[in-house]
Amino acid sequence: MDIRNVVIVGSGCAGHTAALYSARANLKPLIIEGHEPGGQLSMTTLVENFPGFPEGITGPELIENMRKQASRFGAEYRMGHVVKADLSKRPIELSFGKEMVQTRTLIIASGASARWLGLPNEHALIGHGVSSCATCDGFFFSGKEIAVIGGGDSAMEEATFLTRFASKVTLIHRREQFRASKIMLDRARANPKIEFLTDTVVDDVLDVSKKEVTALRLRNRKSGESWDLPVSAMFLGIGHIPNAKVFEGQLDADADGYLITHKNVFTKVPGVFACGDVQDRRYRQAITAAGSGCMAALEVEKYLEEEGL
Ligand code: NAP
Repeated sequence: MDIRNVVIVGSGCAGHTAALYSARANLKPLIIEGHEPGGQLSMTTLVENFPGFPEGITGPELIENMRKQASRFGAEYRMGHVVKADLSKRPIELSFGKEMVQTRTLIIASGASARWLGLPNEHALIGHGVSSCATCDGFFFSGKEIAVIGGGDSAMEEATFLTRFASKVTLIHRREQFRASKIMLDRARANPKIEFLTDTVVDDVLDVSKKEVTALRLRNRKSGESWDLPVSAMFLGIGHIPNAKVFEGQLDADADGYLITHKNVFTKVPGVFACGDVQDRRYRQAITAAGSGCMAALEVEKYLEEEGL
């Protein structure tokens, strides 16, 4: 079996950038695309904050461009996701689908997946008013009434941020107590554009037939009362799930499963680097993910050289 110089797990911004850099360094990277090829960007509509595109670019187009760019220099893409990894072996062994691959170095760029509510119509309206990214999609709802779901810091941050655009933000939380830090909660409470609805759950989002969000079907958990709240968008701030389970026990992770790195992209295992949202719970931007993908690829180059591989 061929031993690869570098395998990259994940094909979002971080993975594609790592692929581009390592392909240009002639390392012939293999990219295992993962569950959600293209990552979170492939779920968004217009991206207006990735430098270099004055008119903006759609998420799927940006991702496709990155992929083409890396492929041009010899990056090899394969569908599938890693089901088993042995980081103690040299070379490192990874299984994906029915295949096994051996590699001298590994870049984990498997990202984080937004947590969704699991409503009947939720998925069909992603990109049409249902979003998990306020910085990506908030701008499209200027002057509109919208809702934010969640009771943690992300929800408070999103709700506060979205008041820049929206005429009104209704923050909907399933309990009465908030998980958010006091400062973030106080800031949201002090904002005259934000209205709080507690003890309230979302039963569905309407209206798929119009291909846009027109209302949320809500229910008060205590009284059982149900009603429709007219809004143009629903932003979810109910957390993300880092895609790192397959490395459990082999790499350090924090309480929520985000990989812990030092010097930006180093894990505790030599030759194994992590970049992008799987190790970043703070910035979570396409451009920061791309930046850390670049760092990981440069470290791979250095590592292979230093180890004489
Ligand atoms: P989080 O703290 O886990 O909060 C998630 C919220 O979503 C909780 O209020 C939870 O409700 C709610 N939720 C989860 N699943 C739900 C469901 N199925 N239906 C309805 N509600 C649901 O997540 P986060 O807000 O993303 O924060 C994650 C971490 O990042 C935290 O440590 C946070 O402090 C940090 N963070 C910091 C900042 C900042 O400082 N600027 C900004 C964002 C995030 P329950 O409370 O009922 O469980």
